Amino acid sequence: MSTLTAQPVSRDQRALLGPLLELAGRCPALQGGLAGAFYSHGETHDLLRFRFKGPKAEHDPLRIGLFAALHGDEPAGAEALVRWLTELADEPWRVTGYDLTIFPVCNPTGYADNTRHNRAGFDLNREFWKHSVLPEVAILERELTTGNFDGIITLHSDDTSEGLYGYAHGRLLNEALLKPALRASERFLPRNRSAVIDGFEANEGLIHRCYEGVLSAPRAQRPQPFDLIFETPALAPIDLQINATLVAIETVLDEYRVFLAHSINL
Ligand SMILES: [Zn+2]
Repeated sequence: MSTLTAQPVSRDQRALLGPLLELAGRCPALQGGLAGAFYSHGETHDLLRFRFKGPKAEHDPLRIGLFAALHGDEPAGAEALVRWLTELADEPWRVTGYDLTIFPVCNPTGYADNTRHNRAGFDLNREFWKHSVLPEVAILERELTTGNFDGIITLHSDDTSEGLYGYAHGRLLNEALLKPALRASERFLPRNRSAVIDGFEANEGLIHRCYEGVLSAPRAQRPQPFDLIFETPALAPIDLQINATLVAIETVLDEYRVFLAHSINL
């Protein structure tokens, strides 16, 4: 039974992110620190931000924001980002031309409690750009504004889905990036090919709508960044979710490079 159930490696943010902070002390390309801290139910909680600068390319660095564990009971994305940053410290060429800003645990209290909602009982992923008073949302909205990202990737897992899928709402570019990412990640886990996923009409694992208030760029940002949500089946073995996520992210970055090269040559 236990081999079939996704088991969190850790529910302790310090255990998860401490080694990464130590690595940042030794690896000049990696920085780690506080995006913000907040007080909830008698305790202070840290929302940590990591930055990884890939080797320079001929173009300006492409700024990508990556977000995980907005829902505290979805550890696969957080684990994937930690593993990725650890690997990138040895193999930075994998993100040549990229400037990554990474938030492995966007919902620290939910992560500690293993709950979807934060400790105050809110689903953070319905609160963005609605004048929310939630401190986690205020911290992340500030980061989304100052980050001025060229692309945003948010990682989730869904315990009602038996396969991989994603949201590509808004720009056509989103679909062009998500399609190959889903294809590549199918090496590790099946795709959800249902006609309806999470209550939305879906086509080959792609959904073109999304909920109000999900994490996204500020509405006024021009041009709008590409914006993808990648979902793994939460009940699959966590290692497969991590592998599927990492190959999806790197496929998006590779495809975005190709897209930019074409648009410059037009
Ligand atoms: Zn989620």
